Amino acid sequence: MALTIGKLLIANRGEIACRVIRTARRLGVRTVAVYSDADAGAQHVKQADEAYRIGPAPARESYLKIEAVIAAAKQSGADAIHPGYGFLSENAEFAEACAQAGIVFVGPPASSIRAMGGKSAAKALMEKAGVPVVPGYHGEAQDLKTFTAEAKRIGYPVLIKASAGGGGKGMRIVETEGGLAEAVEGAQREAKSAFGDDRLLVEKYLLRPRHIEIQVFADGHGNAVYLFERDCSIQRRHQKVIEEAPAPGMTAERRRAMGEAAVRAAQAVGYRGAGTVEFIAAPDGTFYFMEMNTRLQVEHPVTEMITGQDLVEWQLRVAQGEALPLTQDQLRINGHAFEVRLYAEDPARDFLPATGTLRHLRFPATGPHVRVDTGVTAGDAVSIHYDPMIAKLIVWDRDRESARRRLVGALADTEIVGLSTNRSFLATLAAHPSFAGGEVDTGFIARHRTALVPPPAPAPETAIGLVALALMLTRQSQAQEEARRSSDPYSPWHLAGGWRLNDDAHHVLRLRDPVAGEIAVTVHFRGSGVLVDLPGASVMARGTLLGTRLDAMLGGVRHHATFLRRGDELTLVIAGHNHTLMLANPLAEAGDGAVGSGGLTAPMPGKIVALRVAAGAAVKRGAPLLVLEAMKMEHTIAAPADGVVERLRYKVGDQVEEGAELVAFKVAEA
Ligand code: ADP
Repeated sequence: MALTIGKLLIANRGEIACRVIRTARRLGVRTVAVYSDADAGAQHVKQADEAYRIGPAPARESYLKIEAVIAAAKQSGADAIHPGYGFLSENAEFAEACAQAGIVFVGPPASSIRAMGGKSAAKALMEKAGVPVVPGYHGEAQDLKTFTAEAKRIGYPVLIKASAGGGGKGMRIVETEGGLAEAVEGAQREAKSAFGDDRLLVEKYLLRPRHIEIQVFADGHGNAVYLFERDCSIQRRHQKVIEEAPAPGMTAERRRAMGEAAVRAAQAVGYRGAGTVEFIAAPDGTFYFMEMNTRLQVEHPVTEMITGQDLVEWQLRVAQGEALPLTQDQLRINGHAFEVRLYAEDPARDFLPATGTLRHLRFPATGPHVRVDTGVTAGDAVSIHYDPMIAKLIVWDRDRESARRRLVGALADTEIVGLSTNRSFLATLAAHPSFAGGEVDTGFIARHRTALVPPPAPAPETAIGLVALALMLTRQSQAQEEARRSSDPYSPWHLAGGWRLNDDAHHVLRLRDPVAGEIAVTVHFRGSGVLVDLPGASVMARGTLLGTRLDAMLGGVRHHATFLRRGDELTLVIAGHNHTLMLANPLAEAGDGAVGSGGLTAPMPGKIVALRVAAGAAVKRGAPLLVLEAMKMEHTIAAPADGVVERLRYKVGDQVEEGAELVAFKVAEA
């Protein structure tokens, strides 16, 4: 049936906004994006048919501003709003504001959101509906005496949670009574500042549990179904990083029991639309209600992959009053799917979020086995303002092991340069034998931490060899460019390899490895290739460098890699893994002084605003050569040593790329 929603506003950003736009477009629905100042050039803005600015970068002044979103919806003539996840998706006032403005809210009724909004009230409601809840205390009294008595009754260890909680905030594990007072105080403080509500609940802390959640859907005609489970046990800091469907080891009976309990939970709050009922399961399979998320989840794609359904399409159909597209009996599980969340974060520093610019970004090829949901492209920034998720990789295959291998492959085909990410961590995790064996529970990452977050290792010889080759290929193309520009293109002086035409033209590269320290690599020119003397062995290398793509033969082995240079920083990406080396002494790269580039490259993209010298000028070390304007600031590029400016490669007003060579510089003889 055709949709009656003609225009949909997406009150969100990033990958989820792009994902909703994709389905809307497929269904012929016009799309409207909203954006903050930080997102004026973002993908979701480019992909939507229209886009409206709703405020400055901080979310509370833009994406969380109900009036601004409603105003954009009215201005654009949108007849429905999809809230995505996060932001206003579980905000009952927002759902009401939509209704008041005569706009369809693609989500449950405000009353369902309210009923499930507080963990304590929701648990009380679920108990009444006959849904098993985690043994614990979720009453009104909030004094330490009550908590102490209740914790004793429940039995240690206990978990303290913020009733208004989310994102793991305000959560404290308490092992013994001695630690209770401090934990309560800390949790109250954190809950107050995060949610403006310091009410707590106490639960039995389950050991080695699994997080298993059920996707439910209900319509306005009294139908409700479950679209099976997702296992989201692989977590760090109590937050999900890998999700899969179906759950390893799930039996048909338990699936039905959990599914039916989840449907009861939804029906108890008069639910409509997509929702997720989260359960925590003990090792023996006993499961308990934790909370219900009254929106689409980040990990919904794994359910889509195994059911073949588009959950956003279901949401839109239900929102405009249609019945659910399928009945419970018509739903089937086909194969196995995984999702990994690629985050800008540092696993070695307890997964601290990272920010920065995505200098290079490459995802695996997509198809029936691989899906990539993202809202960024190379050049975009991951800022402090929003969630640091870069993308979700979703893989599917006929069984868990085949899907897991797809996951390992997809992560190897993912390249991200510019900021720290969890890509290598996820790759190690996906390849871990215990993970392969289905040993999933919420303690997995902590238990295998040493294997999953190994100490930094020196770059392997292959990486060093490829870096040496890539540098030689860069020089060669620079020399050819010189030759093309100069009056005598056939001059032997332009050949990067044989500028002395002696028996053994060679370069000594001095590289610095962050772990191993300085490494000297001698590169000898040999016909179409180079012989690289690595610390361990000498290998022949040849290949091509097209842009950042390096295709090489190294010691008889073919390698496809990515090579990026920024100033003296050299990054080589092989099988998704980044190896970064520094040119320890860039001037040494000039070898015998033929075409000394002296590392005079643009430290960032910018515009040449002044030239301080002319070609041919002899200068002292530190003399200003030119001025580059980047990010609204001026940067003076100075002479690295006494020498001669052989050539200025750009003129005032030219735009330059990061890493572009600005000046050909010849160092004076000592
Ligand atoms: P939030 O809403 O802050 O994300 P949740 O209640 O969803 O918090 O819990 C997040 C995670 O914390 C769960 O997925 C699980 O790993 C862990 N957790 C929650 N409750 C318990 C419990 N009672 N015992 C053990 N682990 C728990």
